[in-house]
Amino acid sequence: MGAPPQLTADQRSAALAKAKESRQIRSAAKNRVKSGELSLSDIFMLAEKDSFIAKMRVFDLLAALNGVGKIRATAIMERLNISPTRRIQGLGKHQISALRNEFSPAKSRGKLIVLSGPGGVGKSTIAAYIREHGTFWVSVSSTTRQPRKSEKNGVEYFFLTEEEFDQEIAKNHFLEWAHFAGARYGTPREPVEQGLLAGRNVLLEIDIEGAKQVKTQAPEAILVFLEPPSWEELVSRLERRATDSPQRRAERLQLAQEELAAASFFDHRLINDQVESVVQKLLSLASAH
Ligand code: 5GP
Repeated sequence: MGAPPQLTADQRSAALAKAKESRQIRSAAKNRVKSGELSLSDIFMLAEKDSFIAKMRVFDLLAALNGVGKIRATAIMERLNISPTRRIQGLGKHQISALRNEFSPAKSRGKLIVLSGPGGVGKSTIAAYIREHGTFWVSVSSTTRQPRKSEKNGVEYFFLTEEEFDQEIAKNHFLEWAHFAGARYGTPREPVEQGLLAGRNVLLEIDIEGAKQVKTQAPEAILVFLEPPSWEELVSRLERRATDSPQRRAERLQLAQEELAAASFFDHRLINDQVESVVQKLLSLASAH
């Protein structure tokens, strides 16, 4: 193989100028996407005629869309099997229509289901089942409490320091937050909103105080109160929870008693007899609303 052809100084500066122009056009287009002036479909249309826009990275385009951001852009691309460095011109027909569908404004909003009830009633078991089976998208809360042995940051909770939690409150990043048994718990607002916008049904597994706040902010939310098959059953469940200190258990018991009294505030009450049957009922509630 011979050496690559040498460019003259003129050719080099022309190539550099073209590259610069190309970057500027893409960056201007990205800003117009950020401001909401251009939609994903607009960019796809422009890319058909404009080779500079066609060279825009899909990741940059998605991350610029209102409320999407880098994390969700990465997740969407992974799900649709689009390589992280793919440019618009390299997208296949199916990928383009999958992306259009993902952000289609006609897509109806998902349902927001709030599962609450006394501590120890088994909400987290139901939520874990739903997460595993993908029945609904399950929100991951932030908390200031210490992780239990088997818990991983970002899976069951985002474990924050008190300072980090304060910052999230100050930035209005929580849809709701509440104190529970000496710690604070909050629902990150943005992923919930994004899920609903994308037409997904979203499940929050939160305490009663938080559920009330959600109802104020999103009156269309479906509030479900999970009840223990019996009060005695709940007490023995709480007593079996060996990971809690005796004082923590006593606090939980006291609170559970108060919480049982709060059931009347909820749209629906479900008895937690069997995980699968509760999940089935939640599904029916979501489609009935
Ligand atoms: P645990 O510490 O046992 O995981 O949860 C304690 C309580 O906090 C449970 O009743 C659970 O539903 C509630 N909880 C979990 N995440 C949130 C949240 O984001 N907001 C509120 N208000 N409560 C939450």
